[in-house]
Amino acid sequence: MLERMLFRLYLPSVLVLIGGWILSYLFITTIPSTFAESKMLSALATKASLAGGNILWITYAAVALMALYSTYRFWSWSNGNECCCKKCGGVVSERNGRYGPYLKCLACSKTTDF
Ligand SMILES: [Zn+2]
Repeated sequence: MLERMLFRLYLPSVLVLIGGWILSYLFITTIPSTFAESKMLSALATKASLAGGNILWITYAAVALMALYSTYRFWSWSNGNECCCKKCGGVVSERNGRYGPYLKCLACSKTTDF
């Protein structure tokens, strides 16, 4: 159950990392090669390549911050300072649903109200 909770805690940062890699790959390789074929867009090919490098660094910074926040939440939960699930005691995340805000456990996936 701890592994599932850690997986769900760090999953958003891993997804952002993969999305950033894909986006920067498109900007560094695919878009410049496509733009180079056109006379009007060939000037944008180098700009797209530079933007791809910037996207990569922004992605790394965002992933580092997200992972730090997840680590802080886990550390806070392990010290007993984080709001936890009423059924299993796992870390919960606040969500907004059709009937208002609720808590979803990252360990057992049960939902509870405040
Ligand atoms: Zn739970």
